[in-house]
Amino acid sequence: MSDQKELVIVGAGLAGPLLSIYMAKRGHKVSVYELRADMRKSDIPAGRSINLALAERGINALREAGALSVIEDQLITMRGRMIHEHDGSQHLQPYGQKEGEVIYSVSRGELNKRLMDLAEQEHGVEFHFDHRLCSLSPESCEMEFKRSEDNDIVRITAERVMATDGGGSVVRRTMSDYSGYDSREEILPHAYKELRISADENGKHRIDGNSLHIWPRGGFMLIALPNPGGDFTVTLFLPSEGPISFVELDGPEEVRFFFQSQFPSVIPLLPDLEKDFFANPAGELGTIRSYPYHYKDKILLLGDAAHAVVPFHGQGMNCAFEDCLELDRILDQCGDNWSTAFASFSEQRKPNCDAIADMALENYLEMRDSVTDPIFLLQKKLAFELENKFPELFIPRYSMVMFHHEIPYSKAQERGEIQFEILRALTAGKKSLDEVDFEHAGKLVSEKLEPIE
Ligand SMILES: Cc1cc2nc3c(=O)[nH]c(=O)nc-3n(C[C@H](O)[C@H](O)[C@H](O)COP(=O)(O)OP(=O)(O)OC[C@H]3O[C@@H](n4cnc5c(N)ncnc54)[C@H](O)[C@@H]3O)c2cc1C
Repeated sequence: MSDQKELVIVGAGLAGPLLSIYMAKRGHKVSVYELRADMRKSDIPAGRSINLALAERGINALREAGALSVIEDQLITMRGRMIHEHDGSQHLQPYGQKEGEVIYSVSRGELNKRLMDLAEQEHGVEFHFDHRLCSLSPESCEMEFKRSEDNDIVRITAERVMATDGGGSVVRRTMSDYSGYDSREEILPHAYKELRISADENGKHRIDGNSLHIWPRGGFMLIALPNPGGDFTVTLFLPSEGPISFVELDGPEEVRFFFQSQFPSVIPLLPDLEKDFFANPAGELGTIRSYPYHYKDKILLLGDAAHAVVPFHGQGMNCAFEDCLELDRILDQCGDNWSTAFASFSEQRKPNCDAIADMALENYLEMRDSVTDPIFLLQKKLAFELENKFPELFIPRYSMVMFHHEIPYSKAQERGEIQFEILRALTAGKKSLDEVDFEHAGKLVSEKLEPIE
């Protein structure tokens, strides 16, 4: 495109820089405004978690933008969940069964920095740090930013605004004041706190470095994702209030007693347990459902600003990246007609983002509870078996979400519900795969499931 248009993106977290690359590649002049300092120049925390799980949807969106190669060397393969029982025993539950069905641990800071470098150096995107969006007029796209160095107000008028300013989005809150705009925030009664397992004396991981570790304990859990330096970022997910909760862990003795009684095998790996526990804040978790994601052809919300999800399916960032790719695809389809594109984006993304929000909530139960349940384990084995026997009809739901970007989230949810009923019927009263009637399985699968497109 030849005519250069001023497009402002608010928020340079994970989605903002990738979106800026997509939009610059379409020929737009893009400026990104970010409230924090430039993390490439100052030592500031990268955001809500130190590392994250990157899966096929996110990888595909990075690849399509030509951005995958800048981060590939930082990705650590995680082939499955390593379940840590109370007695210290461990067993691996592979995520998938085919070549390449793995997910990756990646540093949030490193990914964010490298995407900003690419946007700035290769695509001419301008970044303005230390600029906090304070107000926005949706009709005129006039914005007021507060600059942190001098508290001055900077006024900017854009042709249109794309908001990737995260779960607390000022843009979404402004849109909420407009009639016809619906926004709901559901805070989870559980919070999270990050701790750290350091590398061993040789800089190696002290527990398996290619797994996502889980210590499931029913109402709560501990997880750990590997980092390239040999350390792990550990996250405790726990109710905020109640008998076993963050509120109750209000002193070093309470914390040590809790870990000793619930996670005894982790204690030797956490020499700084009490120090880390009280140094790191407990973070809130929640789901945001809003609609529509746009205002006329002026404003579009993407990523957490439109649809934050709880982190238990490891899909918030992946979904935010998929938003960027989907917008690009829709713009192609509608010949860069912004008002059609924004309306289509809202309409097409809404069912998918709602679906991943639901599945992420369900996955919390699975991770903290079901992963040790014999029925769940039998159904998981059977799901892999059905995928082998009927590959064009049956793909386990987890695999559809994590490894199949061509299957929309809403389809994965819909098929997943039917598949769950099939798995339940086939495993009722059974203890092992040998007892499953595969002839009946074949009938059920072909009766109830359409072939996968
Ligand atoms: C504990 C935890 C673990 C997670 N793990 C995973 C995982 O494993 N896999 C996964 O896919 N997802 C994960 N997520 C979700 C993921 O972090 C988010 O979905 C992702 O960061 C969304 O990207 P975003 O760009 O929309 O928002 P953010 O990354 O939150 O970026 C928003 C940006 O906007 C800026 N901003 C905010 N307000 C303003 C303002 N007024 N003016 C200017 N700038 C502003 C912020 O400073 C920030 O830089 C996890 C989340 C949490 C909390």
